[in-house]
Amino acid sequence: MSLPLEGKTGLILGVANKRSLAWACSQSLAEAGMRLALTYANERLEKSVRELAAELPGSIVAPCDVTSPEQIDALVAQLQREFGGLDSIVHAIAFAKREELEGDFFNTSKEGYMLAHEVSVYSLTEITRKALPLMAEREGSIVTLTYIGGERVIKNYNVMGIAKAALEASVRYLAADLGPRGIRVNAISAGPIRTLSSSGVSGFGGMLDHIAEHAPLRRNVTQEEVGDACLFLCGPHSRGITGSILYVDAGYHIMGV
Ligand code: NAP
Repeated sequence: MSLPLEGKTGLILGVANKRSLAWACSQSLAEAGMRLALTYANERLEKSVRELAAELPGSIVAPCDVTSPEQIDALVAQLQREFGGLDSIVHAIAFAKREELEGDFFNTSKEGYMLAHEVSVYSLTEITRKALPLMAEREGSIVTLTYIGGERVIKNYNVMGIAKAALEASVRYLAADLGPRGIRVNAISAGPIRTLSSSGVSGFGGMLDHIAEHAPLRRNVTQEEVGDACLFLCGPHSRGITGSILYVDAGYHIMGV
């Protein structure tokens, strides 16, 4: 029996290690038969990304620091050569300086603000634009990762909250642009999960405890649950959905006081 995403190809940006949400998305998509390209942001991560990719049949690995337009161009050229076309993009990257993820938001530096937006927001638009020729006539799907800190004030999330608000607006504008070409664009708003990036947010452990006490499901979510939501958004069962934010947060986003 053939797998549901057999013959499809996907680009995954943001695998750092096995805890990365991008890795969970990779596993769910690969189990459904999608052939994947995994990128690493720098040489420090290359070895661990190559080791993880070795677990996924037919996958390829490429460098891509999203602050480098040349690396994005080289990545797209490699995808053209090796895959010939692209059905899905999973954008699971974000960056802010550690010192911007604590204390008062108004102390955010201009440089830190610009860097957070360059890596965490603009990269979605630049990659989408450059990969578009590869996605033509394929009813593709683009998925990014966001957090409720883009809608509400979450202590210490600071500049990353502003970046997530811009990312979610980008999802809507890209969805409107690309819908006529048959390409869908959505975001998953994940509840807090311990990863390399999230442990940079001051007081992260307290956030996990708060969710476990207050979310309707009285627990935190797992990487696997985010990966499966990504599979849904990249696959045919979500074919009528675009421009949306899908919450994978044990229901926390519906709660008031
Ligand atoms: P992660 O494993 O640390 O993944 C973040 C990735 O972004 C890393 O691979 C990181 O590489 C990469 N990155 C940073 N700067 C980059 C650049 N210039 N070019 C290319 N890649 C770069 O953390 P994660 O929690 O899975 O984060 C994935 C996404 O999920 C992020 O957008 C995050 O905001 C979102 N999210 C996470 C949570 C959570 O609680 N974990 C909740 C909601 C949403 P380096 O390690 O080299 O920096």
